[in-house]
Amino acid sequence: MKAFRRLARKKRAARLVDLPVPIPRNNEVLLKVSFCGICGSDLHAWLNHKGYESVLTEVTFGHELSGLVVEVGSEVKNWKAGERAVMIAIQTKHLENDRFCSSGLPQLSPRRRVQGFHLDGGMADYVCVEEEFLLPIPDELSLAEAALVEPLSVAEHCIATRTKVRPGSSVVISGPGMIGMMCAIVARSRGAEVLVVGTERDFTTRLKSARHIGFETFVTNDSDASLDSMVKNCFEDGVDVFIEASGSSQALANSWKSVRPNGMITAVALYSKFIQVDITQFVRKQIDLRTSYGSSTPDYLRAFELLRSGAVDFSVLVETYPLLQADKGFIDSENLEAMKVLLDCSR
Ligand SMILES: [Zn+2]
Repeated sequence: MKAFRRLARKKRAARLVDLPVPIPRNNEVLLKVSFCGICGSDLHAWLNHKGYESVLTEVTFGHELSGLVVEVGSEVKNWKAGERAVMIAIQTKHLENDRFCSSGLPQLSPRRRVQGFHLDGGMADYVCVEEEFLLPIPDELSLAEAALVEPLSVAEHCIATRTKVRPGSSVVISGPGMIGMMCAIVARSRGAEVLVVGTERDFTTRLKSARHIGFETFVTNDSDASLDSMVKNCFEDGVDVFIEASGSSQALANSWKSVRPNGMITAVALYSKFIQVDITQFVRKQIDLRTSYGSSTPDYLRAFELLRSGAVDFSVLVETYPLLQADKGFIDSENLEAMKVLLDCSR
């Protein structure tokens, strides 16, 4: 089978290679992969960026996948050939007495692993997944739409679980990448008024997509402090909620300026640089500064509901490339020429 696989701990050292089709172990399901998204974190791993040292030297990428069951291991109870599934990306084997499992936050367990970084993922014709990390796809959704459930679940966790955006909340989304866009969509679906902010690099593709699906957008750049004055033209005291999804240290350091007193800031990005923050400014406004990481099953289930409701404008956000052009998919994503690349692994 074909697989898009990292072959060395170096920049852009992934190739399409031929591998044997994996054989499912007792508790595993063999999926014929239908679609697999390229995530921002895949790009970081592909570019061998700092913060991604735990990614295996040799590994097949891909954690945002949908597929069809073709074979099941001897102990698999709930799946049979022909059924449609998505994979939970951040995987922690359930343990009764694990405090992270029992508090509904398995993604924070030190035992977690990400399939596609720490074991072979879904940018391939086939992938084996342990039964407990599969979810059935609702009938109304296509396999391509279902491949968006993982990034959408991350936004659900950020907006609904961590930030508690309410009807009428004013929200700035900093960074119009896929997680930012998904956060904007989840916040809007909960009745928030949303502004999407990007830099000039985002102007031609990402902010255009944001406007296309009905969001008001602002362009800012790291060196200018104009964002807060633009925000205050719309919301005099600043916004209720600021979601930092760009990974820009500057954007997080300046975020307090755009937020009203007693407002909330949630960082959902990963930052490659240390950040100098004038924390006194946050204290004087009593800003609730928090973070959000990953997602778990309830977030996936809400994300499926949102996909079913039609809230996610698939055709504007997604470009599909055949698996054979995975390399081009990564390069175009790196150059911000595509909002979200889905690899079609059935072609
Ligand atoms: Zn991802």
